[in-house]
Amino acid sequence: FAAPVNNTQSGVLINFDDIGGQEIAKNELREALEFIKDIKRLNQLGIRPLKGILLSGPPGTGKTLLAKAAAQFTDSAFLSAGGSEFVEMYVGVGAQRIRQLFQQARQQARAAKKESAVIFIDEIEVLGGKRGQANSNLEYDQTLNELLVQLDGLTNSDDIRILVVAATNRIDILDPALLRPGRFDRQVRVDLPDKNGRLHILKLHTRNKPLAGEVDLETIAADTFGFSGAHLESVANEAAIMALRENRTELSDIHFRNAIEKVIMGEKLDRLPNN
Ligand code: ATP
Repeated sequence: FAAPVNNTQSGVLINFDDIGGQEIAKNELREALEFIKDIKRLNQLGIRPLKGILLSGPPGTGKTLLAKAAAQFTDSAFLSAGGSEFVEMYVGVGAQRIRQLFQQARQQARAAKKESAVIFIDEIEVLGGKRGQANSNLEYDQTLNELLVQLDGLTNSDDIRILVVAATNRIDILDPALLRPGRFDRQVRVDLPDKNGRLHILKLHTRNKPLAGEVDLETIAADTFGFSGAHLESVANEAAIMALRENRTELSDIHFRNAIEKVIMGEKLDRLPNN
Protein backbone atom coordinates (compact mmCIF):
# COMPACT_ATOMS: atom_id res chain seq x y z
CA PHE A 1 0.00 0.00 0.00
CA ALA A 2 0.95 3.63 -0.31
CA ALA A 3 3.87 4.93 1.69
CA PRO A 4 2.59 6.46 4.92
CA VAL A 5 4.58 9.65 4.78
CA ASN A 6 4.73 12.88 2.88
CA ASN A 7 8.34 13.14 2.03
CA THR A 8 9.11 16.80 2.40
CA GLN A 9 12.86 16.37 2.20
CA SER A 10 12.87 18.16 -1.11
CA GLY A 11 10.55 20.91 0.15
CA VAL A 12 11.64 24.37 1.15
CA LEU A 13 14.11 24.36 4.01
CA ILE A 14 12.88 26.14 7.10
CA ASN A 15 15.05 27.50 9.85
CA PHE A 16 14.17 29.11 13.14
CA ASP A 17 14.52 32.60 11.67
CA ASP A 18 11.64 31.86 9.30
CA ILE A 19 9.28 31.42 12.24
CA GLY A 20 7.73 34.56 13.69
CA GLY A 21 7.19 34.99 17.43
CA GLN A 22 7.15 31.74 19.40
CA GLU A 23 10.35 32.82 21.14
CA ILE A 24 9.81 30.55 24.14
CA ALA A 25 9.04 27.52 21.96
CA LYS A 26 12.01 28.23 19.70
CA ASN A 27 14.37 28.63 22.64
CA GLU A 28 13.19 25.49 24.38
CA LEU A 29 13.45 23.51 21.20
CA ARG A 30 16.87 24.87 20.28
CA GLU A 31 18.20 24.15 23.73
CA ALA A 32 16.96 20.55 23.60
CA LEU A 33 18.41 20.08 20.13
CA GLU A 34 21.76 21.67 20.95
CA PHE A 35 21.97 19.16 23.72
CA ILE A 36 21.40 16.15 21.49
CA LYS A 37 23.80 17.35 18.81
CA ASP A 38 26.83 16.55 20.96
CA ILE A 39 26.34 12.81 20.98
CA LYS A 40 29.87 12.05 22.23
CA ARG A 41 29.30 14.05 25.43
CA LEU A 42 25.92 12.41 25.92
CA ASN A 43 27.50 8.99 25.72
CA GLN A 44 30.41 9.96 27.98
CA LEU A 45 27.99 11.05 30.66
CA GLY A 46 25.60 8.17 30.08
CA ILE A 47 22.68 10.44 29.28
CA ARG A 48 19.71 8.75 27.67
CA PRO A 49 18.73 10.08 24.26
CA LEU A 50 15.99 12.61 23.80
CA LYS A 51 13.50 10.65 21.75
CA GLY A 52 10.38 12.72 21.56
CA ILE A 53 9.27 16.33 21.78
CA LEU A 54 5.60 17.16 21.97
CA LEU A 55 4.42 20.50 20.60
CA SER A 56 1.00 21.45 21.86
CA GLY A 57 -1.20 24.36 20.95
CA PRO A 58 -3.90 25.63 18.62
CA PRO A 59 -3.86 25.01 14.84
CA GLY A 60 -1.81 27.18 12.52
CA THR A 61 0.67 28.42 15.10
CA GLY A 62 3.82 27.03 13.49
CA LYS A 63 4.19 23.52 14.93
CA THR A 64 5.01 22.01 11.55
CA LEU A 65 7.44 24.84 10.86
CA LEU A 66 9.14 24.20 14.22
CA ALA A 67 9.56 20.50 13.40
CA LYS A 68 11.08 21.37 10.03
CA ALA A 69 13.40 23.89 11.67
CA ALA A 70 14.42 21.20 14.17
CA ALA A 71 15.44 18.95 11.28
CA GLN A 72 17.38 21.73 9.61
CA PHE A 73 19.09 22.75 12.87
CA THR A 74 20.30 19.20 13.52
CA ASP A 75 21.11 18.51 9.86
CA SER A 76 18.62 15.66 9.87
CA ALA A 77 16.44 14.07 7.25
CA PHE A 78 12.80 15.12 7.69
CA LEU A 79 9.66 13.03 7.31
CA SER A 80 6.14 13.93 8.24
CA ALA A 81 2.92 12.03 8.73
CA GLY A 82 -0.51 12.85 10.08
CA GLY A 83 -2.04 10.81 12.91
CA SER A 84 -5.04 9.92 10.75
CA GLU A 85 -2.80 8.21 8.18
CA PHE A 86 -2.35 5.39 10.68
CA VAL A 87 -5.99 4.81 11.34
CA GLU A 88 -7.22 1.87 9.34
CA MET A 89 -10.15 -0.45 9.36
CA TYR A 90 -7.91 -3.47 9.53
CA VAL A 91 -6.16 -4.36 12.74
CA GLY A 92 -2.40 -4.30 12.41
CA VAL A 93 -2.12 -2.01 9.39
CA GLY A 94 -1.56 1.12 11.48
CA ALA A 95 1.17 -0.62 13.46
CA GLN A 96 2.81 -1.75 10.24
CA ARG A 97 2.75 1.83 8.97
CA ILE A 98 4.47 3.01 12.13
CA ARG A 99 7.24 0.46 11.59
CA GLN A 100 7.56 1.56 7.97
CA LEU A 101 7.78 5.18 9.00
CA PHE A 102 10.78 4.52 11.22
CA GLN A 103 12.39 2.33 8.55
CA GLN A 104 11.83 4.98 5.95
CA ALA A 105 13.37 7.64 8.20
CA ARG A 106 16.54 5.55 8.53
CA GLN A 107 16.67 4.86 4.79
CA GLN A 108 16.13 8.48 3.91
CA ALA A 109 18.82 9.66 6.30
CA ARG A 110 21.32 7.11 4.96
CA ALA A 111 20.53 8.06 1.37
CA ALA A 112 21.13 11.72 2.22
CA LYS A 113 24.32 10.81 4.16
CA LYS A 114 22.89 12.22 7.37
CA GLU A 115 23.34 10.81 10.86
CA SER A 116 19.88 11.61 12.11
CA ALA A 117 16.26 11.96 11.12
CA VAL A 118 13.34 13.96 12.50
CA ILE A 119 9.95 12.29 12.19
CA PHE A 120 7.05 14.71 12.53
CA ILE A 121 3.67 13.28 13.50
CA ASP A 122 0.87 15.83 13.32
CA GLU A 123 -2.40 15.34 15.24
CA ILE A 124 -0.90 12.61 17.36
CA GLU A 125 -4.07 12.52 19.46
CA VAL A 126 -5.75 10.65 16.61
CA LEU A 127 -3.50 7.66 17.15
CA GLY A 128 -2.34 8.38 20.69
CA GLY A 129 -5.62 8.84 22.50
CA LYS A 130 -6.05 7.03 25.82
CA ARG A 131 -6.12 3.28 25.32
CA GLY A 132 -8.91 1.09 26.52
CA GLN A 133 -11.53 3.86 26.39
CA ALA A 134 -14.88 3.85 24.67
CA ASN A 135 -13.55 5.68 21.62
CA SER A 136 -10.44 3.53 21.42
CA ASN A 137 -10.41 0.15 19.77
CA LEU A 138 -8.00 -2.67 19.14
CA GLU A 139 -6.62 -1.07 15.99
CA TYR A 140 -5.83 2.25 17.69
CA ASP A 141 -4.33 0.45 20.67
CA GLN A 142 -2.02 -1.64 18.50
CA THR A 143 -0.88 1.39 16.54
CA LEU A 144 -0.10 3.32 19.69
CA ASN A 145 1.66 0.30 21.21
CA GLU A 146 3.86 0.06 18.13
CA LEU A 147 4.80 3.73 18.41
CA LEU A 148 5.78 3.13 22.04
CA VAL A 149 7.83 0.09 21.01
CA GLN A 150 9.65 2.11 18.36
CA LEU A 151 10.34 4.97 20.77
CA ASP A 152 11.58 2.60 23.46
CA GLY A 153 13.91 0.97 20.93
CA LEU A 154 15.80 4.19 20.08
CA THR A 155 19.30 4.46 21.55
CA ASN A 156 22.30 6.80 21.38
CA SER A 157 24.31 4.17 19.59
CA ASP A 158 21.94 3.73 16.63
CA ASP A 159 23.73 4.55 13.38
CA ILE A 160 20.85 6.86 12.50
CA ARG A 161 19.51 8.73 15.52
CA ILE A 162 15.82 9.48 15.37
CA LEU A 163 13.92 12.27 17.07
CA VAL A 164 10.14 12.20 16.94
CA VAL A 165 8.43 15.58 17.06
CA ALA A 166 4.68 15.28 17.56
CA ALA A 167 2.02 17.95 17.50
CA THR A 168 -1.37 18.08 19.13
CA ASN A 169 -4.00 20.56 20.16
CA ARG A 170 -5.54 18.02 22.56
CA ILE A 171 -2.78 17.14 25.03
CA ASP A 172 -5.55 16.38 27.56
CA ILE A 173 -6.69 13.28 25.69
CA LEU A 174 -3.24 11.79 25.06
CA ASP A 175 -2.46 8.42 26.56
CA PRO A 176 -0.25 9.10 29.60
CA ALA A 177 2.08 6.31 28.40
CA LEU A 178 3.25 8.69 25.65
CA LEU A 179 4.28 11.31 28.17
CA ARG A 180 6.40 9.02 30.32
CA PRO A 181 10.14 9.71 30.69
CA GLY A 182 12.05 8.45 27.68
CA ARG A 183 9.14 9.05 25.35
CA PHE A 184 7.64 12.49 24.72
CA ASP A 185 9.16 13.81 27.90
CA ARG A 186 9.83 17.31 26.52
CA GLN A 187 6.69 19.31 26.04
CA VAL A 188 6.68 22.67 24.38
CA ARG A 189 3.65 25.01 24.27
CA VAL A 190 3.06 26.72 20.95
CA ASP A 191 0.42 29.35 21.65
CA LEU A 192 -1.28 31.99 19.55
CA PRO A 193 1.20 34.82 18.93
CA ASP A 194 1.10 37.99 21.03
CA LYS A 195 1.28 41.42 19.39
CA ASN A 196 5.04 41.31 18.87
CA GLY A 197 4.78 37.79 17.54
CA ARG A 198 2.08 38.88 15.10
CA LEU A 199 4.22 41.79 13.95
CA HIS A 200 7.16 39.46 13.39
CA ILE A 201 4.98 37.02 11.41
CA LEU A 202 3.50 39.85 9.32
CA LYS A 203 7.01 41.11 8.54
CA LEU A 204 8.06 37.63 7.44
CA HIS A 205 5.05 37.16 5.19
CA THR A 206 5.31 40.59 3.59
CA ARG A 207 9.07 40.56 3.07
CA ASN A 208 8.68 39.84 -0.65
CA LYS A 209 5.64 42.08 -1.14
CA PRO A 210 5.75 45.76 -2.09
CA LEU A 211 3.91 47.74 0.60
CA ALA A 212 2.57 51.28 0.18
CA GLY A 213 4.15 53.80 2.58
CA GLU A 214 0.90 54.12 4.55
CA VAL A 215 0.87 50.44 5.56
CA ASP A 216 1.68 50.20 9.24
CA LEU A 217 2.29 46.58 10.21
CA GLU A 218 2.33 47.51 13.90
CA THR A 219 -1.25 48.72 13.74
CA ILE A 220 -2.24 45.64 11.76
CA ALA A 221 -0.57 43.46 14.41
CA ALA A 222 -2.49 45.30 17.13
CA ASP A 223 -5.76 44.80 15.25
CA THR A 224 -5.39 41.08 14.68
CA PHE A 225 -5.67 39.81 18.25
CA GLY A 226 -6.47 36.09 18.27
CA PHE A 227 -5.06 35.46 14.79
CA SER A 228 -2.71 32.52 14.32
CA GLY A 229 0.37 32.55 12.11
CA ALA A 230 -1.64 30.75 9.44
CA HIS A 231 -4.33 33.48 9.60
CA LEU A 232 -1.70 36.19 9.26
CA GLU A 233 -0.15 34.43 6.29
CA SER A 234 -3.63 34.43 4.71
CA VAL A 235 -4.07 38.13 5.45
CA ALA A 236 -0.82 38.97 3.64
CA ASN A 237 -1.69 36.70 0.73
CA GLU A 238 -5.27 37.95 0.41
CA ALA A 239 -4.08 41.57 0.52
CA ALA A 240 -1.71 40.82 -2.36
CA ILE A 241 -4.49 39.16 -4.36
CA MET A 242 -6.72 42.20 -3.84
CA ALA A 243 -3.93 44.50 -5.07
CA LEU A 244 -3.51 42.29 -8.11
CA ARG A 245 -7.24 42.39 -8.87
CA GLU A 246 -7.12 46.17 -8.79
CA ASN A 247 -4.06 46.19 -10.99
CA ARG A 248 -1.99 47.90 -8.29
CA THR A 249 1.74 47.51 -7.94
CA GLU A 250 1.66 47.89 -4.14
CA LEU A 251 -0.41 46.54 -1.25
CA SER A 252 -2.17 49.38 0.53
CA ASP A 253 -3.87 49.67 3.88
CA ILE A 254 -7.36 49.05 2.51
CA HIS A 255 -6.18 45.74 1.04
CA PHE A 256 -5.04 44.64 4.48
CA ARG A 257 -8.28 45.81 6.11
CA ASN A 258 -10.37 43.87 3.59
CA ALA A 259 -8.12 40.84 3.89
CA ILE A 260 -8.54 40.85 7.70
CA GLU A 261 -12.32 40.98 7.26
CA LYS A 262 -12.17 38.14 4.80
CA VAL A 263 -10.14 35.93 7.13
CA ILE A 264 -12.50 36.69 10.03
CA MET A 265 -15.52 35.84 7.85
CA GLY A 266 -13.87 32.60 6.73
CA GLU A 267 -13.31 31.62 10.34
CA LYS A 268 -16.92 32.37 11.25
CA LEU A 269 -18.22 30.28 8.36
CA ASP A 270 -15.91 27.43 9.30
CA ARG A 271 -17.35 27.42 12.77
CA LEU A 272 -20.98 27.17 11.67
CA PRO A 273 -22.48 23.75 12.29
CA ASN A 274 -22.54 21.38 9.31
CA ASN A 275 -19.96 23.41 7.51
P1 ATP B 1 -1.79 22.52 12.47
O1 ATP B 1 -1.93 22.22 13.91
O2 ATP B 1 -3.06 23.00 11.83
O3 ATP B 1 -1.08 21.46 11.67
P2 ATP B 1 0.63 24.08 12.72
O4 ATP B 1 0.74 24.65 14.09
O5 ATP B 1 1.46 22.89 12.38
O6 ATP B 1 -0.89 23.83 12.37
P3 ATP B 1 1.93 25.29 10.52
O7 ATP B 1 1.57 24.22 9.54
O8 ATP B 1 3.33 25.28 11.02
O9 ATP B 1 0.93 25.26 11.72
O10 ATP B 1 1.59 26.71 9.89
C1 ATP B 1 0.78 26.84 8.73
C2 ATP B 1 1.27 28.05 7.93
O11 ATP B 1 0.99 29.24 8.67
C3 ATP B 1 2.77 28.05 7.71
O12 ATP B 1 3.13 27.40 6.54
C4 ATP B 1 3.09 29.53 7.68
O13 ATP B 1 2.83 30.05 6.40
C5 ATP B 1 2.09 30.13 8.63
N1 ATP B 1 2.62 30.26 10.02
C6 ATP B 1 2.10 29.68 11.13
N2 ATP B 1 2.79 30.03 12.21
C7 ATP B 1 3.78 30.83 11.79
C8 ATP B 1 4.85 31.52 12.45
N3 ATP B 1 4.99 31.44 13.76
N4 ATP B 1 5.69 32.24 11.68
C9 ATP B 1 5.53 32.33 10.35
N5 ATP B 1 4.54 31.73 9.68
C10 ATP B 1 3.67 30.99 10.37
